[in-house]
Amino acid sequence: MLGLMQSRPLLVSTLVDYAASCHADREVVSRDPDGLVHRTNYAIVAARAKRLANALHRLGVQFGRPVATLAWNGFRHLELYYGVTGSGRVLHTVNPRLFPEQIQYIINHAEDAFVFFDPAFVPLVEQLAPHLPLVRGWVALCDAADMPAVKVKNLLCYEDIVGAASSDYQWPLFDENTASTLCYTSGTTGNPKGVLYSHRSTVLHAFGACTTDSFGFSARDSILVVVPLFHANAWGVPFAAALCGAKLVLPGPRLDPESIYMLLEQEGCTMAGGIPTIWLNFLAWVETRRAQLDLSRLKLKRVFAGGTAPPRATIEKFRDLLGVFLLHVWGMTETSPLVTIASPVSKHAGLSADKIVDMQVSQGRQMYGVELRLVDADGRVLPHDGVTVGELKVRGNWVISGYFKGEGGQVVDRDGWFGTGDVATIDPDGYVRLTDRLKDVIKSGGEWISSIEIENLAVSHPDVFEAAVIAVHHPVWQERPLLIIQPKPGRNPSKESILEFLSSRIVKWWLPDDVLFVESLPHTATGKLLKTELRARYHGHLAVSG
Ligand code: ADP
Repeated sequence: MLGLMQSRPLLVSTLVDYAASCHADREVVSRDPDGLVHRTNYAIVAARAKRLANALHRLGVQFGRPVATLAWNGFRHLELYYGVTGSGRVLHTVNPRLFPEQIQYIINHAEDAFVFFDPAFVPLVEQLAPHLPLVRGWVALCDAADMPAVKVKNLLCYEDIVGAASSDYQWPLFDENTASTLCYTSGTTGNPKGVLYSHRSTVLHAFGACTTDSFGFSARDSILVVVPLFHANAWGVPFAAALCGAKLVLPGPRLDPESIYMLLEQEGCTMAGGIPTIWLNFLAWVETRRAQLDLSRLKLKRVFAGGTAPPRATIEKFRDLLGVFLLHVWGMTETSPLVTIASPVSKHAGLSADKIVDMQVSQGRQMYGVELRLVDADGRVLPHDGVTVGELKVRGNWVISGYFKGEGGQVVDRDGWFGTGDVATIDPDGYVRLTDRLKDVIKSGGEWISSIEIENLAVSHPDVFEAAVIAVHHPVWQERPLLIIQPKPGRNPSKESILEFLSSRIVKWWLPDDVLFVESLPHTATGKLLKTELRARYHGHLAVSG
């Protein structure tokens, strides 16, 4: 017997509609590249998203066709989030930090009809345009007065096309499994692959993000979205914020600590999210200016961070300097991205501050809507005992079932489990601890050494800014760990002091065979250590250094 309740499709348009009717005057604040602050609200965002939908119709962009963005976090980009998807087209947010050849590949692969770009990206646009035969036009995200001089076919002005279109528009109703947004993974090996989210997955993910033990957004929150709108839908924050009517603060391209601090203070931000590197720099800046700043003016309560693991010292510094709780999250582009969040459970009540941080450095517990398991190399399911290490598999309502256009073939097993490529333990309370990525694991004499664990320890050394551990070839042990360190500015640690620091904290056979110091470590377009480059550079290091 079926239930007798209504079944309305879970469409992205319902999110902005809800925000426009129930939180109409809740602000959306953006800062442009010149530092000027622009204020709008959900009612206006929704109305302009509808104008944009009409404009797309006039441009002849068909239902289901992707359009691309090359843009920072700003109100026009947010309008595209809703206008493109709500009208049944697909929003393809392109990461402008990728190599131009990769961007060219993904825009061609996605068959984007138009590209909406921030004027700041004019040099990139000029470089790309001749190689993108399927793109029918380029829309500059600005008004007529600021139109850039750029040599591309069919150059349009966003404010002109939106201004000329009517706001009289009804969001269409269609199957909730229809594609809504498209994001390519950065693909450190091979071509980037497209992850095609659906309206249903996006709305369910937004519900999940708002639950108290995940991001826990509310109508009273003001959220600084440092994570780019082109990175896994900014972790779903723009959708989750509309679902509960939270204020959105979009910082544009300026992500230096001072700019972030000013926005947090001026916009009364209660929450903020971004990758750990941003917070590392931010905290260092706050610490050195502590005497000049009136920290009591900040309303910040919680910060969320993921993409890479935030160092323990970052979590502690947020707590001690600002009284802020850092919410550590784990996920992937392929998982929308939220899967686990390090929130306390009742047994943490009354525990020491140190024990709470022990919990926070873990990648956290799974949220409702997704499931996790650990498996060994033969696919056997492993126990959640906090000790056994295996590959993390995930399945659920906002997890990929296959890449766009079938790239990469079958990526989930018969039972729907997706192999994340991450290696972890899961403890009996469900807390996940990542020890490595499968491809980064160091196999020394048949045993595994966790590169992440050594990196985490190395960055707790007072002179270390960032650390990378990679496997290098060894004639006897097959592979041994090599530690590569970027010292803090003005510090000059010695190899001996680093090894001595580590030796009291890890077993002897995990100690790196050598320590190198570099001015800077290479990163991917999403801020992760680019270990492929380090491995290529240092593969034979032990043979060379003897
Ligand atoms: P990309 O596809 O560019 O690598 P993703 O954001 O999809 O970008 O990367 C997902 C990967 O990032 C995960 O598989 C994991 O290895 C790493 N990652 C994400 N969050 C964390 C975290 N909290 N701690 C450690 N690693 C993380």
